[in-house]
Amino acid sequence: MPPQFSSQPIVAFMTISVLLYNPRTHLPTRICNKHIPATLNSEHHPMQHPDYEARRNRVLRKFREAGIDSLLVSGVANVRYLTGFTGDSSWLFLAPDHHVILSDTRYETQLQTECPGLDVEIRDAARTVLDLAVARISAHGAKRAGFEAEHSTFATWQALSKHLASTSAALIPTSGIVERFREVKDRSELSQIREAIQIAERGIGVVRSSLRAAQTESDIRFLLESAMRDFGGQGTAFEPIVGVGPTAALPHAHAGHRKLNEHPVLLVDWGAVSSHGYRSDLTRVFISEKPTKHIEKVYKTVLAAQQAAIAAIRPGARCADVDRIARGLIADAGFGPFFGHGLGHGFGLEIHESLRMSPLSQQVFEPGMVVTVEPGIYLPGKFGVRIEDDVLVTPSGCEVLTSVPREFEQSFVGVLA
Ligand code: ZN
Ligand code: ZN
Repeated sequence: MPPQFSSQPIVAFMTISVLLYNPRTHLPTRICNKHIPATLNSEHHPMQHPDYEARRNRVLRKFREAGIDSLLVSGVANVRYLTGFTGDSSWLFLAPDHHVILSDTRYETQLQTECPGLDVEIRDAARTVLDLAVARISAHGAKRAGFEAEHSTFATWQALSKHLASTSAALIPTSGIVERFREVKDRSELSQIREAIQIAERGIGVVRSSLRAAQTESDIRFLLESAMRDFGGQGTAFEPIVGVGPTAALPHAHAGHRKLNEHPVLLVDWGAVSSHGYRSDLTRVFISEKPTKHIEKVYKTVLAAQQAAIAAIRPGARCADVDRIARGLIADAGFGPFFGHGLGHGFGLEIHESLRMSPLSQQVFEPGMVVTVEPGIYLPGKFGVRIEDDVLVTPSGCEVLTSVPREFEQSFVGVLA
């Protein structure tokens, strides 16, 4: 899905063949050749265990640069990234030799399973997570207590300030410390992202092969969501965008009541959540009747812009420069005013992560980063085209992880009556 606009400038801080099994019948449904994990079944192939302690130690090594001696991690995805804990309402207090999750009784058993070996403090109903955090900061003798500015409300800051007023601790806002590490994916994360992509691609296969003229955008959305669940998805990465004709001209459209037979253009932007919480994000346009020359021109312009951008992604390339390549091609074709959002975004545990390709980005690609590449042209009241793929930056260039066909002629679909 298209990246959100930032409220502030973004600064840098085996090819194998497998049988695909229908999860209901356990019968092979088709053969495919592509880069995919050996299986989707996480029960038989558990996630390669991430080294959460090593992740926390990398964050600790940033403390001096950030001017802090402890850090309250309150971002839900950040806590998960650093501990493996999948619940919420819980903070991680991080200081040298002092890693502890501050949680509540609802999560006591879950924490024992998900975070073995990690110190846990459970509060009762008479105390808040904030009380526990204040006590930790005080007991630790922190002088410069960092907190995550982007994941703390003003009210939280006020309360922390009030409680710490009588101590020698200063509250230091930090920004993007953990997010910066999350931009570069490790092996366990890449295998999860590949799983999320495979679930999404199998889901769209079901939708594509069963399109009917009277189906509405909502019908297609529900079928897609259900198919991804059938293929092992823990959920949808976000509410799928399904738009026919004029709806497709809205970059963040909600699926509504427009029927497939109302316009030749069907845009679907969708993704799945893998067994361990990682996401995928793709967009395809399907063309259900003979397209006009205008539709063909728009489609081929978007595809050319996307392919040129992907060809430029490599370690050391500036995100803003890659964005400029795609934006320039679209402008040269006369559609400049109709491509308003950034070219792509990082994703992983969250659908929009801190890596951004836009004219404002000051970020530079590194091996291990994953990013969407999703130029679009939106013609209000008529139709829109966006083509979105997921790309991994490799040591020598990049690898397109997604494999749903994207050539113009491959976008033609048959529609049942
Ligand atoms: Zn998308
Ligand atoms: Zn996206």
